[in-house]
Amino acid sequence: MTLLDHLIARIRQDGPMSVSDYMAECLLHPELGSYSTRDPLGAKGDFITAPEISQMFGELIGLCLAQSWIDQGQPSPFSLAELGPGRGTLMADIMRATRNVAGFHEAAQVLLLEASPALRDVQARTLNGFELRWIDTISDLPEQPLFLVANEFFDALPVRQFIRDGEGWRERLIGEDSGALAFGLGPDAAQAALQDRLTDTKDGDLVELCAAAIPVLTCIAERISNKGGAALIVDYGDWRSLGDTLQALQAHERCDPLGDPGQADLTAHVDFEPLALAARATGCAHSRLTPQGVFLERLGITARAQALAKSLSGSELEELIAAHRRLTHPAEMGNLFKVLGLFPAHSAPPPGLES
Ligand code: SAH
Repeated sequence: MTLLDHLIARIRQDGPMSVSDYMAECLLHPELGSYSTRDPLGAKGDFITAPEISQMFGELIGLCLAQSWIDQGQPSPFSLAELGPGRGTLMADIMRATRNVAGFHEAAQVLLLEASPALRDVQARTLNGFELRWIDTISDLPEQPLFLVANEFFDALPVRQFIRDGEGWRERLIGEDSGALAFGLGPDAAQAALQDRLTDTKDGDLVELCAAAIPVLTCIAERISNKGGAALIVDYGDWRSLGDTLQALQAHERCDPLGDPGQADLTAHVDFEPLALAARATGCAHSRLTPQGVFLERLGITARAQALAKSLSGSELEELIAAHRRLTHPAEMGNLFKVLGLFPAHSAPPPGLES
């Protein structure tokens, strides 16, 4: 059975489904989802992420978290956590870069939130030699200081889409048209969660809601606010997003999100505003939303690239220069990707997110 067959059967039985249910099935259906069954990352997969582009990304994130840990008095023990660790490359770079930070590894309990059994296997291999624990839900984070990173995790959480119709909203739904999947619209209805968007949208505008992000963010912010720590949330998106950002990538090419369910990576841009509001509601402080390029430059990526360049030549040097540009340049990932930092209200923000 293909995922398309399964989805058509589900629609015939239950009626059209939300974009959010569709995303959840495509990504994490236990047997047919794109994350559950395979490793979609890297040159041979569907998409490539910052830690897979260069070791510099994870090294700087690691040093940023370690400096925050030092600034907050080196609490021990603490959770060193990652959400959606992919191949484990980012955590491996964090561990290597922080190896010489006195006491950091000894105090760290490494925790990985990962839904995909296939990727848990890859992470276990990449991080072989480190003591790790996988958690199934965010509430499994121990009640202790939390230093956390999430890169391209929130963009994989399912969103619902709504189109403004007068003072109400019609949900974008996925149904069946002659054996294929097709978009349609649900009935006009008021949406309490979108009440504040009536002031900045007009008829026909599309807005996205990511309900699943809020309990995750709230739990992280509560730990940081109550116990100390810091979180770096890195993703593509913006403040108060507007418009259809559902995107499918297969073998690094954009494709129709309904075209080949389960065979492409599906994401939506992250709306950072509700994440920041959820943090504030717990008493946790958050940084300004900072472009990834600015954040990495402040942490010293150019000095790091120059140091690495000394031992490289030819195509390896070219690759390093291209990676630096790709991570930081405003026309590449530098501006599209943003960083939101969370930290206790009485502490300094993590390095690179000072203003
Ligand atoms: N952070 C990695 C991988 C990003 S891809 C990197 O930067 O390379 C998204 C990751 O989140 C994958 O590991 C995927 O399996 C995981 N993921 C997606 N939805 C999830 C969910 N609901 N719960 C836990 N993990 C999830």
